[in-house]
Amino acid sequence: RREELRKLLDQPTISADGQHVELAANIGSVEDLQKVLANGAEGIGLFRTEFLYMGRSAMPSEEEQFQVYKHVLERMNPKPVVIRTLDIGGDKELPYMKLPEESNPFLGLRAIRLCLSKQEIFRTQLRALLRASAYGQLKIMFPMIAVMEELREAKQLLKEEKGKLVQEGVPVSENIEVGIMIEVPAAALGADFLAQEVDFFSIGTNDLIQYTMAADRMNETVSYLYQPCHPAVLRLIHMVIRAAEREGKWVGMCGEMAGDVTAIPILLGMGLHEFSMSASSILPARALIKEVSRTEWAGYTQQILAMSSQEQIQQFVKQKTRSDL
Ligand code: PEP
Ligand code: MG
Repeated sequence: RREELRKLLDQPTISADGQHVELAANIGSVEDLQKVLANGAEGIGLFRTEFLYMGRSAMPSEEEQFQVYKHVLERMNPKPVVIRTLDIGGDKELPYMKLPEESNPFLGLRAIRLCLSKQEIFRTQLRALLRASAYGQLKIMFPMIAVMEELREAKQLLKEEKGKLVQEGVPVSENIEVGIMIEVPAAALGADFLAQEVDFFSIGTNDLIQYTMAADRMNETVSYLYQPCHPAVLRLIHMVIRAAEREGKWVGMCGEMAGDVTAIPILLGMGLHEFSMSASSILPARALIKEVSRTEWAGYTQQILAMSSQEQIQQFVKQKTRSDL
C-alpha cells in the first residue's frame, strides 16, 4: 500500500471522471515543510502563523517574520502558499500581550477582531507578508471574518501598507490573492456578499462546526455534537461553495474535515476546489479521489442535503464508496 501511494507522489489529483482538484498541506512552522514536500502537496493551503508569536517573551519583528515567510514561499515556489494572518485569542494567549479576561474567549476578541483592535501588530505582519510576496506565490487569508466591515477594514490596512512599501521602492507582488476563512456561521450565510470582495474562501471547519453546533471543539462531554457531516454543517458548506461559484471565486477547505475520507466524496461532489490537510493525509486522499467520480457525487448532493442526520449521511457514503473501492 505504501508503494502504491508513493507512485502518486508527483501526480496531480484527478477524480475518476478526470477533474482536477488541488491537494494542499497545512503547516504550523517552517519545520513542517520537509514533510509537505515529501508527501506531494500541490501547495500550502493554510500556514498558521501563530507559532511565530507564541512561546517567547516579545513580539516578532517585521524582519524576522519576513525571513520566515520568504523562506516558505521560496521553498514552495511556484506552488501557492496561503498564509493566514494572526489567529490569537480564544484559547491561545501571548505572555507579552495582556488582554482583558473574557467569560467566553471563543466568542471574544480573537483572530481578525484582535488584529483590527491592535493595528500595529497587524500592520507589522502585513508589511512582512507584502515584502515576502516578491519571492513566491503568496495568498493572504484573514481568519474569523464574520461581517463585511471586518473584511473591508483588513483589506484597507493591507492596501495602505502596500502603498507605503511601493513608495519606498520595495518590491511587492502585483498578484497577491486575498481571501478569508469561513468559520463563523454568519460568514457562511453571508457568503454571497462576502464573495464579491475576496479572491477565495477557505472553509475552516474546526471552528465552523464548533460555532454551528454550539459545541466547544475541545470539550469531550459535548463531542457527540461535533459532527462534520451533520446536515446543518453540510448545508452551510454547500451554500459557501455555490456563493463563491456564482462570483467565479475558488473555495478550499483547511479544517480537519478536508482530510476526512467520509467527507471527501461529498465535498468533491459539491464542487470544492482545494483540500488542505496535514501532510500525511495527502497521498491517501489523492488515492481516494482517483476512485471517486465528481459528476456522480454531484448527482447525490441534493439527496444528501435532504437527509436528517450525520449517521444517515455516513451510511450513505459508506454504501456508495464500498462499490467504488
Ligand atoms: C479551522 O477553524 O478549521 C481552522 C483551520 O483553523 P484553526 O484550527 O487554526 O482554528
Ligand atoms: Mg479556526
